[in-house]
Amino acid sequence: MTKHAFLENNAQPVPEAAGMDHCPFLPVFGPPAVMFVRGQGTELWDSQGKRYLDFLCGLAVTSLGHSHSCVTDALTQQSAELIHVSNFFANPVATAAAIDINQLLESATGSSGQVFFCNSGAEANEAAIKLARKHGGRGRHTMVSALGSFHGRTLGALAATGQPAKHEPFQPMPEGFKHVAYGDIEALSQAVDSSVAAVLLEPIQGEGGVIPAPAGYLKAVESLCKERGVLLIIDEVQTGMGRTGKWFGFEHSGISPDAVLMAKALGNGVPVGAIWVKEDVAKVLQPGDHGSTYSGTALVTSVVRAVIAEMKRINAPQLAVSVGAQLTKKLLVIPGVVGVRGAGLLLGIELAPGCDATKVYQACLAQGLVTNAVNASTIRMAPPLNVSAEHIEEAVAIFAKVMVQMMKEVEAAQ
Ligand SMILES: *Cc1c(COP(=O)(O)O)cnc(C)c1O
Repeated sequence: MTKHAFLENNAQPVPEAAGMDHCPFLPVFGPPAVMFVRGQGTELWDSQGKRYLDFLCGLAVTSLGHSHSCVTDALTQQSAELIHVSNFFANPVATAAAIDINQLLESATGSSGQVFFCNSGAEANEAAIKLARKHGGRGRHTMVSALGSFHGRTLGALAATGQPAKHEPFQPMPEGFKHVAYGDIEALSQAVDSSVAAVLLEPIQGEGGVIPAPAGYLKAVESLCKERGVLLIIDEVQTGMGRTGKWFGFEHSGISPDAVLMAKALGNGVPVGAIWVKEDVAKVLQPGDHGSTYSGTALVTSVVRAVIAEMKRINAPQLAVSVGAQLTKKLLVIPGVVGVRGAGLLLGIELAPGCDATKVYQACLAQGLVTNAVNASTIRMAPPLNVSAEHIEEAVAIFAKVMVQMMKEVEAAQ
């Protein structure tokens, strides 16, 4: 059996891992760079006791930081009260959490809607695909999404994901998916024919490289969808929950989508996803059309309630705006940074030609700063929305040091 690369790279694996002679995981992820054992706020510690600043948040998941007391308290209290009862019965926690989500989306869209809880971003997308097909009816089942998009790894969500290389090993993909260039309203207009049930878009392509929708694009998409009677579904799995400076990324463009998908920061690391659907659209669904054993357990929805309450208390979207502006300003004066894309605290740092984002990511990690190379020339940063000014300073200093070294190497190679 294959030995896990992590064990080869680390002189002193944690006790649990010591003595293992093969990797216990399916080889679907690359070799892990570090084994983390503890987190508190923006800080993480690895198995060697080394401290890191987490400017990635597990991909925009732990937006309130690690081990937040609101999450720990919800989990401990609710787990002693009631965890799970199945969807034959109601529980007051899921009901309250769905009302909380609807309140956020009612003020964002001007319409009231209904919520289905699931366990991940991919599952929220699967629910959206089924909703679109039921709403469109027979012969009108196609989903149009964008090239470069990411919607998850399950077969339907993968088919919606506009990355052909990710489809290839698993062909044939389910039928009924089309992809168009992101930001190109003409291409979308041509794609939306009488077979199309819905358009599915991210307001900022996260995995695609932190690519914001061009100004006016989503508004034009909304008009097109209305005109042709097609649903507009927005994937807010990465951009939602305050990350971009509004509760939801689509709010920057003033649209009112028919359905909104959430996950990631909704549970601050506790697995949960949700789809919110406007009432007039939601009524096409009937009992039996969809479900999940773990839809809206009291345990997980207690965390959703706690996360939303804490984000409201600290005004997380406003923090993303103000801290995001400070961080962006500091990043833009660092040598080798040619631009910063994104919104709020979802940032794509474009590096100068010749810089290798993977090397920059690795050097930052070695210096105790967790980021992500989202593509060959872009570093993604998504720190906690409640990150302190001191931690911003410290992270920027590490990043600047790494970039100064990187630019020396780039110049030497010229
Ligand atoms: C991460 C992500 C998903 C998939 O979420 P999972 O919880 O990993 O299934 C879907 N859409 C977007 C925009 C994402 O960023």
